[in-house]
Amino acid sequence: MNFYDSERMTDLLKPHGYQLDDNEDDADLIVLNTCHIREKAVEKTYSELGRIRDKINTRKEKTGKRSIVAVAGCVAQAQGKEIIKRSPWVDIVVGPQSYQNLPELIAKVDPVYKNKNINIDFPTIPKFDQLNANIEKRGPSAFLTIQEGCDKFCTFCVVPYTRGAEYSRPLKSIIDEAKRLIDVGVKEITLLGQNVNAWSSKGLDDQNWGLGRLIDELAKINDLKFIRYTTSHPLDMDIELIKSHRDNKKLMPYLHLPVQSGSDNVLKMMNRKHSAKEYLKIIEKVRDYNPKIAISGDFIVGFPGESEKDHLLTISLIKQVNYAQAYSFKYSKRPGTPGSVFLNQVNEDTKNFRLYEVQELLRSQQLSFNKKTINSKMKVLVLKKGKKKYQYIGRSPYNQSVYFSSNNDNLIGSFIDLSITDAFQNSLTGNILSDF
Ligand code: SAH
Ligand code: SF4
Repeated sequence: MNFYDSERMTDLLKPHGYQLDDNEDDADLIVLNTCHIREKAVEKTYSELGRIRDKINTRKEKTGKRSIVAVAGCVAQAQGKEIIKRSPWVDIVVGPQSYQNLPELIAKVDPVYKNKNINIDFPTIPKFDQLNANIEKRGPSAFLTIQEGCDKFCTFCVVPYTRGAEYSRPLKSIIDEAKRLIDVGVKEITLLGQNVNAWSSKGLDDQNWGLGRLIDELAKINDLKFIRYTTSHPLDMDIELIKSHRDNKKLMPYLHLPVQSGSDNVLKMMNRKHSAKEYLKIIEKVRDYNPKIAISGDFIVGFPGESEKDHLLTISLIKQVNYAQAYSFKYSKRPGTPGSVFLNQVNEDTKNFRLYEVQELLRSQQLSFNKKTINSKMKVLVLKKGKKKYQYIGRSPYNQSVYFSSNNDNLIGSFIDLSITDAFQNSLTGNILSDF
């Protein structure tokens, strides 16, 4: 989602004379977009700001030019004024629901560093309505935020505090943005939301639509070929969305459905509002409708009170699901969340060991999922060139990176049929069958 926000900030600033530069040494404006989901986010922000201070001082000495520094994202939201206090060379602090105001905030920057601009409101006019319609050229694959914020309040999670209440963008605004992305050459869109499948809005028939209907509507856009979405919540996995995985050929066979733990005790303490069995039932149903679907998930190990028995239940759930890919994290105390003050915190050594066990298992499942694709035929979207001569990198329908070679210089953005020749932990290799 931060990646999407950064792209939108770039779109927003372009009409004001700014453009992206790889080199921050001579940048007129540096925007540090921050994430607060796990530990060390705040420390990382301040150490990055120290590095930025050196850069802007060197530039000032060499060229006499003053750079503007903005801190955006969820650390900005959580820290607010504190950022200016600790890093007085920062000019702007802007939260994730207010970055549409960046041009105004930049215009107000005081040349002698006196007045600072802090905007961490949750405005009532949603930011998407105010974001400039301008969309700059992207690669062949783009993100599109359709839902933001969360009302579920899992006890470990900072999202409801930094991104605010659950909000679904209206259908028209999403379709318009998707069409504008297609106009600049995008072929694949990943719909984003903290709980993307909680998206709900009035449909074309005035009925309430969920994510499944939205995906079916987006699929009508001719040049949009691949549709993905992330991240979903088990409680919002409705039958319409599950059916889309069977019926909608543009919807990729990949589902990221976090469960966090395989133990009902832990799930309860996390306030997840579903049991391990209910989660497994959803997976079973999804596979009934689309047996080939790749399942992915998120796990937190060492949540306060997690016993060895709870941990083994997580291992057992992972074995039952057999994931194609998954993310796992050590529980990290987030300030202001209920979990951070639970008394029975798990010690670091135990967390490390449990994470190792979970990751070893997930790694082996991922490798065997990848190996099963050897000799199969796959259509991949070519995303970029690789490091080696003639090498390209594409993405498979199952979200795997696929390396292949071609002396055709112009393949980025094309769909290529590949025969898969080998499989590794994080990637596949293939040979071209035909272009289409
Ligand atoms: N809405 C999604 C997840 C969004 S947050 C869901 O409910 O499943 C993305 C992931 O970050 C989570 O799935 C979780 O695994 C991880 N995460 C969030 N807070 C965390 C914390 N305090 N410690 C460790 N991992 C965390
Ligand atoms: Fe965070 Fe997801 Fe829980 Fe919402 S549902 S509080 S985003 S983990």
